[in-house]
Amino acid sequence: MALLQIQEPGIKPHHREQKFAVGIDLGTTNSLVAAKVGSVVETLPSKDGDHLLQSIVHYGDGAVTVGREARDFLVEDNKNTIGSVKRLLGKSQAEIRGFGYHLPYELDSQFPDGDPAIVTRHGSVRPTQVSAEILSVLKERAEEFSGQEVDGAVITVPAYFNDAQRQQTKDAAELAGLRVLRLLNEPTAAAVAYGLDAGAEGNVIVFDLGGGTFDVSLLSLRNGVFQVLATGGDTNLGGDDIDRLLMEWIRKRTGFSRDIDEKALVSLNLLSNSIKHRLSLEENAEYAFNNFTGVITRHDLKVLCKIPLKKMVAVCSKVLRDANVKISDVKEVVMVGGSTRMPAVRETVADFFEMPPLVSYDPDKVVAIGAGIQAEVLVGNRTSDEGLLLDVTPLSLGLETMGELVEKIIPRNTTIPVTRAQDFTTYRDGQTALSIHIVQGERELVSDCRSLGRFELRGIPPMVAGLAKVRVSFQVDADGLLSVSAEEVSTGVKAEIAVKPSYGLQASAVEEMLKSSRENAVKDMESRSLNEARVDAERLMEVVDAALLEDPDLIDSRELSVIQSKRELLTELLRVGSSAEIKKVTEDLNLASTNFANRRMDAQISKTLHGESIDSVVSE
Ligand code: ADP
Ligand code: MG
Repeated sequence: MALLQIQEPGIKPHHREQKFAVGIDLGTTNSLVAAKVGSVVETLPSKDGDHLLQSIVHYGDGAVTVGREARDFLVEDNKNTIGSVKRLLGKSQAEIRGFGYHLPYELDSQFPDGDPAIVTRHGSVRPTQVSAEILSVLKERAEEFSGQEVDGAVITVPAYFNDAQRQQTKDAAELAGLRVLRLLNEPTAAAVAYGLDAGAEGNVIVFDLGGGTFDVSLLSLRNGVFQVLATGGDTNLGGDDIDRLLMEWIRKRTGFSRDIDEKALVSLNLLSNSIKHRLSLEENAEYAFNNFTGVITRHDLKVLCKIPLKKMVAVCSKVLRDANVKISDVKEVVMVGGSTRMPAVRETVADFFEMPPLVSYDPDKVVAIGAGIQAEVLVGNRTSDEGLLLDVTPLSLGLETMGELVEKIIPRNTTIPVTRAQDFTTYRDGQTALSIHIVQGERELVSDCRSLGRFELRGIPPMVAGLAKVRVSFQVDADGLLSVSAEEVSTGVKAEIAVKPSYGLQASAVEEMLKSSRENAVKDMESRSLNEARVDAERLMEVVDAALLEDPDLIDSRELSVIQSKRELLTELLRVGSSAEIKKVTEDLNLASTNFANRRMDAQISKTLHGESIDSVVSE
């Protein structure tokens, strides 16, 4: 936490120099920049008066263009025009290829390190570089508007963004020459814009429906600080889906066949989008397409959107359920994202939460404005009692799992206070205690991270390995104090410990740990995958050995010899094999023993049905 400065007695404070800080909402569809203008924080317009910058980048013959000009190339030069790059941040090539929808541009499969990069006529560009183009335009916009250089920026990210996605957002900002004061969660920014941080304590829902994504966050405000209690959403639900539904509706009515050509498809898309926007203002909209004119009403659109609206409601109830919060305990609902302008969406939200949502701020601008307010605080133009000061965890916090691997529970840069829980289980049959080792750092192996403390959870009733459910909760309070508790869910046995994670770590040490994590990322991935393969192999061998000892009569000699040869090969590979080889043979051994395992299971079930309790079967 930053310390407040105190003036020496008798000396008059000299006028504090005002720094220029901005808040940036780097969106999937649109991006904005906000800063203090006069006495309020507002979004800044381009020279053409647009506040929204479309998050589209075109790599042209000469220059790189961003925004509406870039959008014009979506049709004629789609290979060099990149939209929705935010979806690629922090993702691997394999993850991107697995997205399940067609990307209009090409990925460079030969790119060094297998990092994702997009092939353009300017060469291959990384997602961070594309994002930096967008950020540069916003930085320039702010500097032209104010005549001042930007001293620092708060950049917003979705609450669910992981460490890699946050890191790449930061890298993109640095590439654009911005000093990142802090990454701020988008829902928190929206709540700050509405001044909810200064209001009464309670729970706030932030409902964010953008172009391609839907996010719901449940925040809890305590002592002027927001905590994210739960998040939910759908990374493939947004205004684009509504456009598609409307396109299909119009296509059918105008008698176009399904295999309509690309050009007509694009104009149909633009038409649907503009009709949707019109229906947010008016009850009816007329349209003309393929020599056909028709009318669609607001009600038609609501009926058309039945399925997406149902999905939204399902996500909202899940978020409440996850955090165990009742609708009556929600104090405010904040609307974010262009698609919340749709009356159908507002009505659905109002019905579900039994209150009108907050819509007085422009839903496109509210995140950027909140980020701008936070930037003012962080750059030192306001003291913290004029606005809340959120702090973040400087390094990830996690615990050791089998194979000396680190499982991160709270990622670096998470706003505190925060509570996160994850379920773990036992490794061996009949295991009655769990050793919990808490570590801090970004590396994949325990030995490369900093050990913060250990404790034990005892008194777990003996069960089959993998059956016990131990919920480990990490809680960091507003002062950076970490406490960790572990509870076996079915029995309620519990243990906990308090540690101080970030204290005693100098900024330089944090920097050093981050640097080494970046340098070692590839190596770490390899050793992680090798260790995981080893743990899986060893576990399977133990299970097979125990089973062979217990039920030798349930296996035939041919099966036994296959199992034994695979087991020997695996023992050898554990010493010298690569992770791929180990995984392959583990799989083979698993297959070879499947029939045997099934017979044992049948035998055990009939044993249990004949009056022996599970306990006596399990604890032998
Ligand atoms: P993102 O956060 O994904 O960048 P935005 O919050 O900017 O997205 O929302 C973009 C979406 O909002 C688009 O699908 C757009 O069609 C929709 N939208 C914007 N204005 C309106 C409106 N008046 N009525 C209905 N939808 C709108
Ligand atoms: Mg958004």
